[in-house]
Order: sequence, then C-alpha cells, then structure tokens
Amino acid sequence: MSDSAPVFSAADTEKVCCCLCGDPGRPVYDLPPYGVRRCSHCTLVFVSPRLQRAALSRFYDQVDYFEGGVYGDQSRFSPAMALQRVWTAGRLNRIDRIVKARNGRGSAGQRLLEFGSGYGLFLAAARDRGYQVQGVELSRPAVRESAKQGLDVYCGQLVDAPLTGPYGVICGWDTLEHVPDPLAVLRRIRELAADDATVALSTPYFSSLPSRVLGQRWWTLKPAEHIWHYTPYTLRLLAARADLVVTTVIRSPLTAANLTRLDSLVVLLRPARRSSRRN
Ligand SMILES: [Zn+2]
Repeated sequence: MSDSAPVFSAADTEKVCCCLCGDPGRPVYDLPPYGVRRCSHCTLVFVSPRLQRAALSRFYDQVDYFEGGVYGDQSRFSPAMALQRVWTAGRLNRIDRIVKARNGRGSAGQRLLEFGSGYGLFLAAARDRGYQVQGVELSRPAVRESAKQGLDVYCGQLVDAPLTGPYGVICGWDTLEHVPDPLAVLRRIRELAADDATVALSTPYFSSLPSRVLGQRWWTLKPAEHIWHYTPYTLRLLAARADLVVTTVIRSPLTAANLTRLDSLVVLLRPARRSSRRN
C-alpha cells in the first residue's frame, strides 16, 4: 500500500453480526479501529467494527491496491504475476476437467462468470480456452483496464450486477473474504448457476498454520479488506445455507491451483440437488 493510502478512523466503521446466525460474536483480536470476532454459535470469524461501504469504495479505488499485490497490472513482469499465471492455469485445468466430465464437450461456448475479476487475467485466460466470459469487479481502475482487453466487466458488487444466468462456471478468487455479505453472494451465485454448474472459490483460511502460529501478526489478517475469515467447516455451513455443496477442498501449497499458498485454500462446489433444497 502506498503512502497515499486513505487512513480510516472509527467514524468510517460499522458494527456487524455473523451473516449466518446474527450473533455479535466474541472478540478474537482488537486492532483499532477494527475488531476481529468469532460467532459463538457457528465459529465463523468476521471483522467488526469494519469499514462502511463508502470507505470501502475509497479503499478499492486506489490503483495501488492492485498494483502493489499479486493482482498487479499484467502488462509488467514480476514474480507475483508469474505465480498468478500458475494459479490461473492450475484452476482452469481443474475446472476444464469437471466441465468436460459433465457435458462431454469441454469449455467451448460455456458461460463463465468471475466475481472480483481484478485486471482480468483469469477472464482473459478463460476466454482463450473458449469460455464466454463475464466479470464483476468493484475497483474502477481495474474495470477500465479489463475493458481495454475487450472484457465485459460490470463495476460493482455481484449482488447488484444485472446478470442473467445460467452460467456453467462461476468463480471468485480471493474475493469472498472481501464482500459485505458472503451469504447473499453465495445465494446470488446459486441463482445464476446452472443446475450442473461448477463453482470455484479461493480464500485465506483462519485455521491455517500461519494464522494459528502468527495470531494477530498473520500477514493475511488485513482487517480493512479481509472482513470474513473462513475455515473448511464454516465454508461448508455457508455453502449449505445457499444451497451449494462443497465437493473439494484443496489446501496443498504444492498444487498448481494453490501454489505456495500456505494460508489459503481452493474450494470447488456444485448446486445442491433439488430434492435436498429448502423452500
Ligand atoms: Zn454464526
């Protein structure tokens, strides 16, 4: 983050409760003006107080937010970008295999939606493999950059995007920890997903070794932006409430889809079968 990064105070924050239980949670870490709390019912970890919507938009409009991290401008070479390309290829390989097993044809003409598409690296790679791609991204500079590559990206949150399903593939890479209401996002994904769709997500996880060993010094805690922290258990709970089923959890930092990531996981999901869905 550059020196020009906005500085936030308690006035920019709001208190929230667990999106599954409505529980205010118990304190885990106190990081003024933020707090990290854990739901006393379901154990989901969340940031409260956290940045309000207007402050969050200011945060994501900083060009440095993307250029300074692994989501950087793809026209420049950097080791972080090389890693991003390994993840992209590894994730697309996994998704391609599932898509082919389900439809017998593969990616050609399949509709793929990515939420939190950043500068469009994954979308462009998916387009090269034959998918019909669309994205959703909150950062205006990143949406402008995507448009230059001819990518169709809506600027805003997934829940507000005027999209029409069904999509065969819906992905969100390191995005679900950023969204104001992850249950609303997963429910929107379920609405947009075809009944045989593949949903693929990646996210840091709170039960990872770095998180447990480093505590509040965990480098991925970042309470301004990472406002929900999952475990494989709470991800399954959240998915079930949105009528999605977790089929695969990839934790290994040796797998291409998650290479070097000691504190993150890749999760594959599918819509729950209709017979098991709640009304
Ligand atoms: Zn809860």
